[in-house]
Amino acid sequence: MSTVSIQSTFIDQLVPALHNYNRLKQQPKSEIHLHLGGSYPQSYLTKIATAQQAQQLQDLIAQIRNRDMSYESIFAQFFPLIEKIVITNRQVEDGVVALCDELAKDHVTYVEIRTGLKQLGGSTWEDYLNAVMKGMHRGAQNNPNLKVSLILSLRRNSSQEEAKEAVDLALEHGVVGLDISGDITKGNIQNIMPELLRAKQEHLPITLHIGENKKELTQTIEVGGNRISQQLFELQTLNPKRVGHAVHLTQEAKNWIVEKKIPIECCPSSSVMAGMISSYHEHPAYELYHNGHPCIFCSDDTLPFITTLSQELTIAAQCLNQDPQELAEHQRQLVEEHRFK
Ligand SMILES: [Zn+2]
Repeated sequence: MSTVSIQSTFIDQLVPALHNYNRLKQQPKSEIHLHLGGSYPQSYLTKIATAQQAQQLQDLIAQIRNRDMSYESIFAQFFPLIEKIVITNRQVEDGVVALCDELAKDHVTYVEIRTGLKQLGGSTWEDYLNAVMKGMHRGAQNNPNLKVSLILSLRRNSSQEEAKEAVDLALEHGVVGLDISGDITKGNIQNIMPELLRAKQEHLPITLHIGENKKELTQTIEVGGNRISQQLFELQTLNPKRVGHAVHLTQEAKNWIVEKKIPIECCPSSSVMAGMISSYHEHPAYELYHNGHPCIFCSDDTLPFITTLSQELTIAAQCLNQDPQELAEHQRQLVEEHRFK
């Protein structure tokens, strides 16, 4: 095993040094936390962007690699730029195909892609959903070893009407689950709770972004005249099938997740580069994993975090002091058990 320190080295320089990275790349792998908007391949975006946008994208990625700008400010520019580049449903569809091709190159054999619904160029949410589904279908046809499912993301501060439409569309179109995301301090999740509970009644499983921000540790919510921990309220009320990130958890929330053995979708590069933790080794999931808790390593957003699933598994294996190929195989088995379809 390489002795290169993960904290002090850019990961794209580190990974080729790890002796079994290439063997890991050839191994079948499963990915269950991947946002479409942050994972369109750069080559695809460059093809459909204007020359100026392509240059902006290249500059942003160079800044991320060189770390010469705060990640927060890069992030604030990155997603608006993607939204200026991918502006039609046809581009979304082709982008999903390009993403599937990229995943297949990394020998991903099962993926749950997630996306929020968008209205592009005066079209409807349903048009967007159909475009994503068509792209998934074409992507799977191009890559017969890849199985692709879709999770719909809903932000905590969505309106009740938006949540209702998203749940209706998810149920009608064979979406495999819902993802609750967005800043926990913005909006009131209670507005959309009736729709989320309806989705659960209809057997649509939920994964919850939780513990991304330290502010969550003191965030409370008013329920029946009492103020209680928002993390615990969301966990107890939604009883999610999986949670995403789970970096900053209150003790009660952590106990709840551990006792119920709720799988954690851990995204190491995202957690470091978005500033949740200051080094790869600090991710609290490693200790839970060593204690037998199901932790599944994922990419989150491959483009701004300049990563792949093989890279995230390599990082996690190094932090866990485990063989990356064994970790990938264990992960594949965990995903078989906990995937949404
Ligand atoms: Zn995420």
